[in-house]
Amino acid sequence: MTPIKKVIIFGGTHGNEWTGVYAIKKYGEKLRLQFPTLDLHFVHANPEAFLINKRFKDEDLNRAFQYLHEDRPNSYEHQLAHTYKKMVDEEVCFVVDLHTTTSNMGNTIIISHPQPLNFQMASILSKQLKDTRIILSPDPNKKYLASQSEFGMMIEVGPVSNGLIKAEALEGTLNLLEVILLSLANLQSLTAGQLEIFEEIEDVFYPQDEAGNMNAYIHPEFQDKDFTRIEGDYVPFRTFEGESVTLKTKEVLYPIFINEAAYYPSKMAFTLCRKRMLQT
Ligand SMILES: [Zn+2]
Repeated sequence: MTPIKKVIIFGGTHGNEWTGVYAIKKYGEKLRLQFPTLDLHFVHANPEAFLINKRFKDEDLNRAFQYLHEDRPNSYEHQLAHTYKKMVDEEVCFVVDLHTTTSNMGNTIIISHPQPLNFQMASILSKQLKDTRIILSPDPNKKYLASQSEFGMMIEVGPVSNGLIKAEALEGTLNLLEVILLSLANLQSLTAGQLEIFEEIEDVFYPQDEAGNMNAYIHPEFQDKDFTRIEGDYVPFRTFEGESVTLKTKEVLYPIFINEAAYYPSKMAFTLCRKRMLQT
């Protein structure tokens, strides 16, 4: 495997996810000293969105890369996307994009490019850090920041509310980051093997009335059950009238991003994944 020395770590791509911002600002220098053989770059990705404590100012930066070919002079994030695309394209680099989620996802690694390096890194992370799972999220339109490099991953740690620091999320993020950098500094520690991955297959939306208003919420028995096996009938929602809403799966599936705050505007309630083993 060709060594990759340049690593770009983006924090605060979403302005209300503070963990990444503090991870790079408060620990970047320490990590630089700890990994002198790597060329580390820490980037506060969306400072204006952070100032207003919102996910984004004009458009979601972590979806903006699919619109790079468009002319969007009034979008702050569109300009940022151009800047970061250029930064990533300068030379081969590994990109880590730090996020948090309001869902009970523990330490989640999201991989879009099926590169052996990405999978072998994920394998080390899932072995060394408890409560760490790997999601495969193909990104054909390259909308995600982390997808701009063939090598890289998104980190999603939760549950944590937006706009605050929570020890578990911050320390979980730092632990993941340290193992990633350690592996990049010692590439021979990466080996081929089997990796358990969750593959996104379907988004499930809140039940809505004809005007598009939500008429149910996440069932209390379903809340926080991210990565819990479901098969056949399951009850993800309760209507505001108190009725349980039953849905059905045709196979064994696993829900993720249950009740993620950022997905309410799209009325997305959770995503279903299939679990499978992958040869790295
Ligand atoms: Zn995010």
